[in-house]
Amino acid sequence: MGAGIDRLREHLDDCETCRTDGLPVERIDMLLGSSRIDLDAAALSQQAFEAAQVALHAVAVHRFWRQVVAVVVVALLPLPFVIAYDAVLLRLLYAAASRVLSGTIANYIVFMYASSLLFLFAASYAAIPVLMARSMLPRLSTRG
Ligand SMILES: [Zn+2]
Repeated sequence: MGAGIDRLREHLDDCETCRTDGLPVERIDMLLGSSRIDLDAAALSQQAFEAAQVALHAVAVHRFWRQVVAVVVVALLPLPFVIAYDAVLLRLLYAAASRVLSGTIANYIVFMYASSLLFLFAASYAAIPVLMARSMLPRLSTRG
């Protein structure tokens, strides 16, 4: 604080305008010396963080879902080829099963296999946001 008032005195020595206008250096020095502001930096930080938390959370959630959409779109790209491959596989399975078993049982086997494939696809795509959230959780908790 002393350095500031010394610089003001030096300026007063050099500046004609401030000298003739009567810059109240002594009064400024006294006021600066007597005024004190007690700051609790930790409490201020806590208040600022609490005020910003809702907005930060909203931004984080928005970014997270944008990333999830991007990853799901990329993961969906090979799906038509996988479905076409599985359709060929199911036809071969049906042809092989209907040769040795009755049509109803062959249908049942193919239907069950197709259902399990459908479940695996659905579970794989549903796992994307869960796995992304789990991989981001350590990073989020070290910040907060
Ligand atoms: Zn001046």
